[in-house]
Amino acid sequence: MKNRLSSILILHLLLLAGCATSHTAPPVNVEGARFDAYVLGRAQDGGLPHVGCEKDCCAKARRSGRVETPACIGIHDRQTDRLVLIEATPGIDSQLALLHEKAGVSGRARQPVDAILLTHAHIGHYTGLMHLGHEVAGSRDVPVYSTPSMSLFLQDNGPWSQLVEMDNIELIQCFPASADESGAPGKDFEPIEGLQVEAINVPHRDEFSDTVAFRISGPARTMLFVPDIDRWDDHPGLLSRLLSGVDVAYVDGTFYDGSELPGRDLSEIPHPAMVTTMDLLTEHARMHPGSIRFIHLNHTNPVLHDHSLQRSIEQRGFGVAKVGERQPL
Ligand SMILES: [Zn+2]
Ligand SMILES: [Zn+2]
Ligand SMILES: [Zn+2]
Repeated sequence: MKNRLSSILILHLLLLAGCATSHTAPPVNVEGARFDAYVLGRAQDGGLPHVGCEKDCCAKARRSGRVETPACIGIHDRQTDRLVLIEATPGIDSQLALLHEKAGVSGRARQPVDAILLTHAHIGHYTGLMHLGHEVAGSRDVPVYSTPSMSLFLQDNGPWSQLVEMDNIELIQCFPASADESGAPGKDFEPIEGLQVEAINVPHRDEFSDTVAFRISGPARTMLFVPDIDRWDDHPGLLSRLLSGVDVAYVDGTFYDGSELPGRDLSEIPHPAMVTTMDLLTEHARMHPGSIRFIHLNHTNPVLHDHSLQRSIEQRGFGVAKVGERQPL
């Protein structure tokens, strides 16, 4: 009896602890939602541990076996069981397995998803495509949505060109809105029936392709995904345009405050520091706690390693993406 009472007490304490942070937790159920979006990875391109890093952040992870894969979102259509992957990262195998598990979908074999959306041609965002090719899954015509320049990059350069020639993937161009409000409007698309996507160009190192953010809408809610951006203020009004009508936003959280990069001036580092974004969006976070969530965290970002820092971010009304968290759309 005593044991039972103490376990009830512990359960209550756990529930209370849960309530204390629930103001920044993702919603559990939303009326009218048809799709579930899941965070499948939250690290910067190189993940954790990170090749070339012998500091504590990665040395400890190597010792403990901790792995953080690059930023990635999976979407499940509850009505049809169709699946969409946003970004094909170097961690694609475990990310697909997590999506299948969360969605309760099995038997997909060589057609692991029904569509893939890519933001740009940096290695953490598209190189997982190679696993759809001849040497691995041997998929058939998986639709891959990207901007015209990204599509051309894949079509014209090996080994990606082989995926196109052997019909493992089917390239579909999407037309993004310009980062300037006065520029070209975009063209929305539906990678699977009922899921509306709008791409918007964002400023970023564009060596091989341009870069986009995605605004993704189901019948219930709209989600923004902008894992990589150099600055919010290059284009007046871009941040408020990206956030307009958005219920939850996964935004570039590569660096916390720049002190992770000793000797570098914060103003010269591409990527808005998390502290800068939090200053810009203080009022937004106060009005909609938990709706701005940081993703694409660099291996050195203290947020990945320091729980009290994570809590202080949550107390300010922001969130840090957690692998497996769900957003109904
Ligand atoms: Zn990146
Ligand atoms: Zn490291
Ligand atoms: Zn990038």
